[in-house]
Amino acid sequence: MSVKKILVGTVIALAVIATGIYVFREPLATMAIQKIATKRMAENPLASLPDGLYIGLCGAGSPFPDPKRSPACTAVIAGKRLFLIDAGSAASRNLNAMGFNPSDVEALFLTHFHSDHIDGMGELFLQRWGGSGRTEPLPVYGPTGVEMIVGGLMQAYAQDTTYRVAHHGAATMPPSGAGAIAKQFAAPSANGRVVLIDEPDLQIVAFSVGHAPIHPAVGYRVRYKDRTAVISGDTSKNANLQKEAKDVDLLVHEALQPRLTELLRRAAEANGRTNLEKVFRDILNYHTTPEEAAEIARDANVGFLLYSHIVPALPFPGLDGLFLGDAPNIFKGRMKVGIDGDFVSLPVGSKAIELSKRR
Ligand SMILES: [Zn+2]
Ligand SMILES: [Zn+2]
Repeated sequence: MSVKKILVGTVIALAVIATGIYVFREPLATMAIQKIATKRMAENPLASLPDGLYIGLCGAGSPFPDPKRSPACTAVIAGKRLFLIDAGSAASRNLNAMGFNPSDVEALFLTHFHSDHIDGMGELFLQRWGGSGRTEPLPVYGPTGVEMIVGGLMQAYAQDTTYRVAHHGAATMPPSGAGAIAKQFAAPSANGRVVLIDEPDLQIVAFSVGHAPIHPAVGYRVRYKDRTAVISGDTSKNANLQKEAKDVDLLVHEALQPRLTELLRRAAEANGRTNLEKVFRDILNYHTTPEEAAEIARDANVGFLLYSHIVPALPFPGLDGLFLGDAPNIFKGRMKVGIDGDFVSLPVGSKAIELSKRR
């Protein structure tokens, strides 16, 4: 058979297959969605993970829109228990996309009350409640001010709560499980810390960071068995954070690259966008540069530096190096510019630090 005949035959066969797929697209899509939904609902990644501490980025970004980075959210899995630190606007969606069930979130910890850290809370409350029929509200830990946040959201969602109960019934949507309950703690002093959970296998500590004029602002240190991680929250370079990060396996640190934000500031200036131009100038003083975060990682001797809360947006490939600047020369250990779905595994009884992608 000639090459030409083979090619013509192949094209005809492909055309027949494509036509078949098009004609039967709806039954095929129905089969696919049934299969995927059945598989997803049978999954329980919390049960299947080996014993360890796991940190996942359910939001690696900031208020600036970035296709790969949603507003702030860090998932913490300690053994079989799931916690969130901050709940930016895609928190529960990203958690779902990473294969986890928002119903399993045991508690939320807030670093501070900038909108990009709390604007996914309402959705998280509903996903957690509706997905499981929980009878207890979500505990939300935060420094002074968290009662106002939770109280305001409870008021904003009060009508939604009555609608859900009326429609699905109290057995499916128990009114007692709606929304959240504030677990407010006094903001620690500038060099201080507050131990929030203190169990033999799990300790969660809030410590003060520097995000002035925003007060209070905290970071969190999580120890599960013999593995430890620190999550910075929003902060300029901070000595208290460096102290808390001493010898931890993983440091998730926020960062802003001034050389890149300067390009955006100039673009705003050139176009008469004075408001935006002022914002790009103002944000420099309450974040940490990638190089400064690398200094902390080096001086605290951390095992892995995962950048999160990335400013500005890095919307196309090739920008990671520009973002990091001189950081790789400062910290010689492992580092990564985080994106949504990044997942760091710290198995217990081991020094291993494994990075994977769950989205
Ligand atoms: Zn922020
Ligand atoms: Zn902030």
